[in-house]
Amino acid sequence: MTLELETIPCLSDNYAFLVHDRKSGATALFDAPETWPIQRELEKQGWQLTHIFITHHHADHIDAVADLVAAYHPEVIGAARDAHRLPPLDTEVAPGDTYDLWGRQLWVLDAAGHTTGHIAYYLPRLGAAFTGDSLMALGCGRLFEGTPQMMWDSLTRLAALPDDTLICSGHEYTAANGRFAATVEPGNPALKDRIAQTAKARAMDTPTVPSALGLEKATNPFLRAGDPGLKAGLGMADAADVEVFAHIRGAKDGFKG
Ligand code: ZN
Ligand code: FE
Repeated sequence: MTLELETIPCLSDNYAFLVHDRKSGATALFDAPETWPIQRELEKQGWQLTHIFITHHHADHIDAVADLVAAYHPEVIGAARDAHRLPPLDTEVAPGDTYDLWGRQLWVLDAAGHTTGHIAYYLPRLGAAFTGDSLMALGCGRLFEGTPQMMWDSLTRLAALPDDTLICSGHEYTAANGRFAATVEPGNPALKDRIAQTAKARAMDTPTVPSALGLEKATNPFLRAGDPGLKAGLGMADAADVEVFAHIRGAKDGFKG
């Protein structure tokens, strides 16, 4: 494997990700929350920033783009449908596109829901998906702009990736997400185990992101809205998957945990 993945904590609870190609020396950044932690990592590693991929338009994912463009002149890539509210893009992409990243395929996936223009990126060669505020560790983004159907479709698309895919999501919300998830599926042993592991990791200030998709499928209540046991537990055995998802999303919005 000539690709290397670095997770960079930014701001209070954001993550940015660097993917470095050892062969060419080129480096791609996925989301740009804050300049100095990203710049410090690039300098520490001696890496040249060549690409910035943006998942969505929120400030905590784009604020460092201008500084990094001025310092490194990378190509900036984002969703055509959100170009009017993203930093200036060199390359506009759309869901269903594949982007050639150093001779490797990078898939562009529709990840709408949190915002209507949100996209995700999947790099099969690395086995990693950059999901921003769509699918998150033990959670999913709040529906600021999109409908439950949009987010459910986005989660379903992401769930179809291989189980060992690393879900590189935008925030360290896992502990709080776990407190909520336990109210949805109190009897899920994999969830109990994950909550305990999360507490241990956070006590040592270790990131819980990225996480494996297979673990999300076993524990993340938003991905599990179609599970018959989960549905029955909520008294929604006969409801459509998307209705169950909408119910769980609504409950999380009102959750004070
Ligand atoms: Zn966001
Ligand atoms: Fe965010």
